[in-house]
Amino acid sequence: NVRVRFAPSPTGPLHIGGVRTALFNYLFAKKHGGDFILRIEDTDQNRYVEGAEKYIIEALNWCGIPFDEGPGKNEKYGSYRQSERKSIYKQYAQQLIESGHAYYAFDTAEQLDFHRKDHEAKGKTFIYNWHNRLKLSNSLSLSNEEVKAKIEAGEDYVIRFKAPQNEKLHLKDIIRGDIKIDTNILDDKVLFKSDGMPTYHLANIVDDHLMKITHVIRGEEWLPSLALHYQLYQALGWETPEFAHLPLILKPTGKGKLSKRDGDKLGFPVFPLQWEDPKTHDISRGYKEDGYFPEAVVNFLTFLGWNPGTEQEIFSLEDLVKVFDLNRVNKAGARFDPDKIKWFNHHYMQEQPESELAEAFKEQYEQLSDIDVNYIELVIGLVKERATFVSDFWDLSYFFFQAPKSYDEKASKKALKEDTKEILNAVIQLINDTEDFTVESLQTNIKGWITTNEIGFGKVMMPLRLALVGALQGPDVFDIMFMIGKPETVKRIQAVIK
Ligand code: GLU
Repeated sequence: NVRVRFAPSPTGPLHIGGVRTALFNYLFAKKHGGDFILRIEDTDQNRYVEGAEKYIIEALNWCGIPFDEGPGKNEKYGSYRQSERKSIYKQYAQQLIESGHAYYAFDTAEQLDFHRKDHEAKGKTFIYNWHNRLKLSNSLSLSNEEVKAKIEAGEDYVIRFKAPQNEKLHLKDIIRGDIKIDTNILDDKVLFKSDGMPTYHLANIVDDHLMKITHVIRGEEWLPSLALHYQLYQALGWETPEFAHLPLILKPTGKGKLSKRDGDKLGFPVFPLQWEDPKTHDISRGYKEDGYFPEAVVNFLTFLGWNPGTEQEIFSLEDLVKVFDLNRVNKAGARFDPDKIKWFNHHYMQEQPESELAEAFKEQYEQLSDIDVNYIELVIGLVKERATFVSDFWDLSYFFFQAPKSYDEKASKKALKEDTKEILNAVIQLINDTEDFTVESLQTNIKGWITTNEIGFGKVMMPLRLALVGALQGPDVFDIMFMIGKPETVKRIQAVIK
């Protein structure tokens, strides 16, 4: 049974890269009929940010990728918040010490700093490992009694993993293939601290094991930790899950990792929802509030590093679940293209129920509050083809709700000629004579009249459009006339030739 987890640290809002990780986990789980788990990795209390967990959950729900198990939901394996699992980790650190895979280290921050600087002065890098661990202050050079005495005296300690010397590790990654690592370059990572808290590495491995995780799918930034994680599984005598490290998400230029600053600078959000930082009260924009549809965000994100191997670009979440395959995820970084997500949004705009679009449009514009929602739906049906966001509707359709307040200067020059008055007066006559005021009748009558009298189409249609819209754009002129009705149509034509 496939079980995967998304394991964010609640240090702030979920970046689009985090959402992509969650999404790939979700797709993989659902493809294999497995479970998608949310685990909150909050062991680093200094970086904890109030409200971040709630934000993460809301963001996943908005994207339509809810978790099967997580904080407050089907908590089969105890709490899904690491801070509430504190008592679990110590025994495993202890086990590693007993089996000789880990040791106590008492070096103070000052001592470590001294070693670092001393090495630097000699042009070397200080690595806490086989190379010099025996010269440092730790249980490897102390007797059991001495260690015990130090701990009982309340001395600060950490528990470090004892990275082996001269071993070749053979790691496997679904996306990257085989990775060979020489253990001599690894350092003795801290697993546990005397404040009773495990570090990320220990807590992550212990929980993945206890929660029966079968596949670890996460961002490339964790690849350097893979060697340690492999060794921890081995040292604890546990079966290693499979790993897949997702490619980086790159700036729109393709150079460097995408950051919040890129979004701020270039005007696109990098968070799914709006986020107010409780520390600074700065507001960061989100896709939701910017008018993106979750379907567009999900479709776009899936293509950041994955492709179906065909030309097809539009996939619903259900389709994605069917075709998603970790073997088709690229190693190379994926360039974030803000125009592409707009393209997806435009596509999904066409698929939204008009009733929902009408509600959303109405909410944004007070001047629409008294207008019948059925009328608004019809308007949306006529203009949505050219809209990317609900916020585009007003500019595309204001003339369905009010007469133009002014006429575009360039358009007037182009449309209004000496004979316009005469022509439009004749059109008014035609309109008044059109008894059943439908698109078809209007079209037949006016077009027929133009043809019979051999007047250029533009000479009639351009000023007509200007009268109705105030500019030379918008949907079909006959659709507009029909929608606003006979009296309003006549009024607007009269106004332009006054
Ligand atoms: N807590 C880690 C993070 O914030 C989880 C990494 C992992 O998935 O192993 O991304």
